[in-house]
Amino acid sequence: MKSFWEKEFTCPFCGVVFRKKMVFYDAVRVRSRDPDLKPNYEAVNPLLYSVVSCPSCYFSTLEDDFEKIKLSQEKRTKVEEVLKNLREKLKLEEREDHIESVKRHTICALVYEALGDKKKTAVSYLRIAWLFRELGMRERERWAMEESLRFFEEFYRYSYYDDKEEPMILFYLGVLNQMLGKKKEAAKWYELLIRKHGDSSIYSKVGRERWQELRES
Ligand SMILES: [Zn+2]
Repeated sequence: MKSFWEKEFTCPFCGVVFRKKMVFYDAVRVRSRDPDLKPNYEAVNPLLYSVVSCPSCYFSTLEDDFEKIKLSQEKRTKVEEVLKNLREKLKLEEREDHIESVKRHTICALVYEALGDKKKTAVSYLRIAWLFRELGMRERERWAMEESLRFFEEFYRYSYYDDKEEPMILFYLGVLNQMLGKKKEAAKWYELLIRKHGDSSIYSKVGRERWQELRES
């Protein structure tokens, strides 16, 4: 069975057309999950392929957003500033390994931040934490979890979100605090998650387990 295919993308920022290696959905096998639901994969690791980066201007987003992003002139100016700075500091290579994926996710996080999308910024930092976890780089993993938590908090407090999104946000507010050793904060978010959502989603079910572990620890 083939694991990869190639997809053509047009950069919404600079118009360059390029091809990118993609993972076949059927080739992905989840072996286990960490406490924060990080999937541990067998063989192919989709984390290394999930960001689309323009090889020319470095504009980067998660795969589903890349060609859908709408850029007003104001947003374009903000993003250009971020990309210009990044192009001076780092060089993207056409390789699929952890270091390249950390670089792409970092650009992705800064692009979402410039676009004002705090949830996607938080998700990008969460994935950076997962990449550092796979590399065994604990300090950097911790830094990325702190960044992720900061943006999830800002998103929860200041952004519009719909009810369906809330369990996921509350779960990550709980579990990231728990993993960072902030038990009281973690308990507060888990309580809110369970009080508002019961067992209505996978996040509240897993959140209930984490809360139980937290109280027994
Ligand atoms: Zn581009």
